[in-house]
Amino acid sequence: MRKAAVIGAGIGGIATAVRLAVKGYEVTVLEANPTFGGKMHEFWLGGYRFDAGPSLFTLPHLVDELFTLAGRTPSDYFRYTRLDPITHYFWPDGSHVKAYSDAGRFAQEAEQQLGVPKQAVQEALAKSSRLYKGTADTFLRKSLHKLDTYLSPDVLKALSCLSDLGLSTTMHEANASQFSDPRFVQLLDRFATYNGSDPYQAPGTLNIIPHLEHNIGAFYPEGGIYAIAASLVKLAEKLGVAFKYNEQVERIITENNKATGVETSSGKYKADVVVSNMDVVPTYRRLLPDQPAPEKTLQQPRSSSALIFYWGIKREFPQLHVHNIFFSQDYKTEFEHIFKYKTVSQDPTVYINITSKADPQDAPAGSENWFVMVNVPHNQGQDWQQLTTNTRQAVLQKLSNMLGVSIEPLIQEEQVLDPLLIEGRTSSFGGALYGSSSNNRMAAFLRHPNFSSRLKGLYFCGGSVHPGGGIPLCLLSAKIVGELVPAVAPLPAKPRK
Ligand code: FAD
Repeated sequence: MRKAAVIGAGIGGIATAVRLAVKGYEVTVLEANPTFGGKMHEFWLGGYRFDAGPSLFTLPHLVDELFTLAGRTPSDYFRYTRLDPITHYFWPDGSHVKAYSDAGRFAQEAEQQLGVPKQAVQEALAKSSRLYKGTADTFLRKSLHKLDTYLSPDVLKALSCLSDLGLSTTMHEANASQFSDPRFVQLLDRFATYNGSDPYQAPGTLNIIPHLEHNIGAFYPEGGIYAIAASLVKLAEKLGVAFKYNEQVERIITENNKATGVETSSGKYKADVVVSNMDVVPTYRRLLPDQPAPEKTLQQPRSSSALIFYWGIKREFPQLHVHNIFFSQDYKTEFEHIFKYKTVSQDPTVYINITSKADPQDAPAGSENWFVMVNVPHNQGQDWQQLTTNTRQAVLQKLSNMLGVSIEPLIQEEQVLDPLLIEGRTSSFGGALYGSSSNNRMAAFLRHPNFSSRLKGLYFCGGSVHPGGGIPLCLLSAKIVGELVPAVAPLPAKPRK
């Protein structure tokens, strides 16, 4: 049987393992941590459960299709519900918008609360949908580094969208040219953070992102985001995938320009196919030190990272929902702090995710589990202790003002995650959440391909390679790898007696 070794049990690695097992490979996943999930893990603080990393889940069919591919019924393993409203937005001037999942209702809410013309909102969402549908097949679902992609009729579909894609404007310019209300522009600009980018630099192309949330929907998995990884590991194990925990891969073994296995502290694993779910920068620097590295690709600017305060809050806030945003007064200054000055503004936008709103078991009765996140630069040697202290103070002051109640005395449990810890726990270069940023219009072409052009048998999946970071794109990276890896030749038929 042909063997595959997958380095890392992040969501990209787990999904790749499923796809290769279905394809007939004997798959072993080597994971440095004591458990699976990478950024997508969970933990408890007293009576409070927290999803440690991702909190927003879109395109759930990409999870479902893995179960279907393996001949299973998705709902036997994994269930989710559509969120409505999706997000509660709060501005410092006291205004408040509920982003309903129905596009028409959301447009009406924007008109009532912010005075934004309803029709303009609907037109913007329809455009986002049209451009997503025109471009996703080429830019997200296929390798951009294979000739076949450019010979497909999908390219014509993508080319027909070119003039509307906003490649020559920034995302902010595109939004500000459509809407005069700065609050609604800020709401649309925020979608740049879904891949760790800056709306004042990233191209208008990123305005396809709202389609995912506002037209297709945002979903909440039963058991939290962690259930995505847990249910897929269960599936993978049923398919015979072996997960080896506490096994850090130290080297990818190569012979005659081919990857032939991996080496961990416990020994060597021979493989016909090696897939790295480790961030591509340390994959080259640590696992392939003797191979020439694609320096231009590895030096692409990183996405933002995050400072997260996990707070067990001993009170309920009926005005909050699962996803809540408390905007800053000056968004431009906030992003300049992140991407230009490599620090954190004193008035950051604050995101609060409260899963106990969807699943009351995640917090004790009368309490809520707050995942409080601020976008920050990736680690470049900043003093994170000082930045954490300052940001915690700024966040507490902001939330206390905007919610009209002093928050600090309500904190019953607390833990913090910073870029150094993210890097230390997952090997993500600089603790970046989404690999490289999309702050320039060529970013999609400058991400590392899903295969090595030098070493036969070596593939890459996960948030640091094509098509990018975030759960849906990591799942798509696994799908592309699954399609690139050669099919296992059927075993020779047994001679009839
Ligand atoms: P990772 O999660 O990066 O895991 C890689 C795994 O490889 C780790 O388990 C690591 O231990 C292992 N590994 C590394 N090196 C080795 C080695 N040498 N040997 C063995 N094992 C190794 N995405 C969304 O879609 N929605 C969100 O709301 C969202 N919010 C986020 C918030 C935070 C705080 C964070 C951190 C991320 C967020 N993301 C979000 C991004 C999303 O979590 C990631 O894009 C995705 O989970 C990355 O998956 P991955 O497959 O790249 O692997």
